[in-house]
Amino acid sequence: MLETVDLIIKASWLLPILPNEIITANQAVVIKNGNIVAIIDYHEVDLLYSASETVVLDNHVLMPGLINTHTHAAMSLMRGIADDLPLMQWLEQHIWPSEQKVLSNKFVKEGTLIACAEMLSGGTTTFNDMYFYPESIATAALQMGMRSSIGLVVLEFATQYANDADAYIAQGTEVRDTFKSEGLISFQFAPHAPYTVSDKSFEKIAILSEQIDIGIHTHLHETKMEIAQSIKKHGITPLNRIANLGLLSSRISFAHCVHLSHSEQQLLAEYGCHIAHCPTSNLKLASGIAPIDACLKSGINIGLGTDGAASNNRLDMFAEMRLAALLAKGTTLDATAISAYKALEMATINGAKSLGLEHKIGSIECGKLADLIAVDLGALTLKPCYDIASHLVYVADRHNVSHTWVNGELRYHRAQSQNGNFSGIEPQEIESIVQHWQKSLMNRQH
Ligand SMILES: [Zn+2]
Repeated sequence: MLETVDLIIKASWLLPILPNEIITANQAVVIKNGNIVAIIDYHEVDLLYSASETVVLDNHVLMPGLINTHTHAAMSLMRGIADDLPLMQWLEQHIWPSEQKVLSNKFVKEGTLIACAEMLSGGTTTFNDMYFYPESIATAALQMGMRSSIGLVVLEFATQYANDADAYIAQGTEVRDTFKSEGLISFQFAPHAPYTVSDKSFEKIAILSEQIDIGIHTHLHETKMEIAQSIKKHGITPLNRIANLGLLSSRISFAHCVHLSHSEQQLLAEYGCHIAHCPTSNLKLASGIAPIDACLKSGINIGLGTDGAASNNRLDMFAEMRLAALLAKGTTLDATAISAYKALEMATINGAKSLGLEHKIGSIECGKLADLIAVDLGALTLKPCYDIASHLVYVADRHNVSHTWVNGELRYHRAQSQNGNFSGIEPQEIESIVQHWQKSLMNRQH
């Protein structure tokens, strides 16, 4: 008797991330009630299961959905509004005044909707957001069927959203109470940054986060100026201030950490803190290049993030993976720094760990939720292909994503990609050239 399930996905290649880095051919992933219930050979699956729907991906790699560990999704509506400026000038003269004009539930909901569309189409299934009106972020993410970790933002100064830090905290916890039974949503406190949040508020957040058992996410050491100002005002670096306030633990994740001394790296590793590495945003705002290879080697868990589309200007995790790997090599002069596979781990399981969701997502394993993406390897720009992990990071881009499932539900699908037409060569000729040389080069060692 066949077991009835909801969905079977048959894929040419499976990149599970866990339990190991082996990429296997011709695998089927079996899904029931949003969970992965079996991973078996493509040819045997029909002998054991009967599915309401079967998707055959005959030129694709199936992998875990990407996890964007630092976003301000609604800022997609401000994409390109002010570019080529340093962080504080960008924030104080452009972003904050623009927000003052438009901030509302409607702005946040609609901005988050288009951000979710962009992220789903690029293979991101989970995002960790920090913005105003968290109820609108939650509503938009649920409408799009996307998994979200929603930051309950806290600032000392008044905005249209709240008057002071206590009001931000109270309104945030109210939103968390309203949505806490939603399986697709988890929450974190999101004190904006050490330079916008007082000691008193950080202490209050530390106590509350333990009481209601949610994580904390904040910007940290994004610029040298932030560190210099903290030393001037408080006599210590922002990280040491956070440490003295008792916030360091495995439940806190820090966006950026562009400037970290060796002893600060040791401190983060010792407490099991996480970093959301945002290489594009750090470059574009000229904040610098985070010492990610050294941080990984010291044992810190590091995920990848895009930051908002106002400072990136894309929500493209394929771009972040490639840049993270390249920057690590360029800055260390070590070509082995952040391998392609390491970049894939950062974008999947490491991101899940930083959100406290590693038991649910971040890899394709039985018992985990079916947050999956398929990448179509059929485009001529992806040929030939000798190493799939390398191709995903150094060659593929978000437009090669063909399917995005969250909880086993198809949330984005693109019809088969077209390679276009050339006056000088037929597509079949490209295919036959690639096949011929790939075969001879694969046999080069025999
Ligand atoms: Zn940010």
